[in-house]
Amino acid sequence: MKYIGAHVSASGGVFNAPLNAKEIGANAFALFTKNRRRWQAKPLDDLTIRKFKHSCEKHGFKPEQILPHDSYLINLGHPEAEPLQKSRDAFLDELQRCEQLGLTYLNFHPGSHLRKIDEAACLKRIAESIDWALAQTEGVIAVIECTAGQGSNLGWHFDQLATIIDQVENKTRVGVCLDTCHMFAAGYDIRTAEACDNTFTDFERTVGFDYLYGMHLNDSKGGLNSRLDRHHSLGKGEIGLEGFCWLMQDNRFDGIPLVLETIEPEIWADEIQMLRCFEQGETPA
Ligand SMILES: [Zn+2]
Ligand SMILES: [Zn+2]
Repeated sequence: MKYIGAHVSASGGVFNAPLNAKEIGANAFALFTKNRRRWQAKPLDDLTIRKFKHSCEKHGFKPEQILPHDSYLINLGHPEAEPLQKSRDAFLDELQRCEQLGLTYLNFHPGSHLRKIDEAACLKRIAESIDWALAQTEGVIAVIECTAGQGSNLGWHFDQLATIIDQVENKTRVGVCLDTCHMFAAGYDIRTAEACDNTFTDFERTVGFDYLYGMHLNDSKGGLNSRLDRHHSLGKGEIGLEGFCWLMQDNRFDGIPLVLETIEPEIWADEIQMLRCFEQGETPA
């Protein structure tokens, strides 16, 4: 069974997200538990937490169907001590918010070296940041999102994801989320069934499906290997529909949140419906 949804709005309160997801026919969703462009957020109060849990239960969302995303400001591989600590503190706060909401995943972008330290040092720093935060929390899995490799962002190559995981002490609480737009922009072709086969065989060999805790389903405005993080609606970008159809028909993607971050929220319901048809065996028109 596929858990398919979108990154829905939590405006007005996190407890609004489950209903927003239900309304588009989703059985998975992503959300920000605080403003994604701010460092500070007021702590979650008991009423908010209770309302969130109640709404999830009412609309049939279990923790494994929900993939919260952290703030864009956090850089767990920051080359300088002070901003690194600021990022670590903010990441810990994000993990604790998930913990309070009864959620089991936190999706985040690994980090950037900002051209001040080398790649290996940055990847080591990211792993240390993850361990530091995991040691102070319980139950939440740190889910590293693959990136498009824009600027000095790391985590675009499967080897880099594997290197981070290798160095994380607590392997039961670390994993990855593959964003199809980012993968494609980073040079992993997923335009055809054959290309998908090759790419995910590579993924299985390098990282392993045991570590796959979620996917972001986005088409890409940028071409293969463009290193551009520019999402598009499914079938309207450079990837096209065949790859998404292939994903929906492969059971290695069952049981994890598959989340749209496409650019037209008004057609999310249609996109989810189309993916369901692919899952049922239909092929793109
Ligand atoms: Zn992301
Ligand atoms: Zn993403």
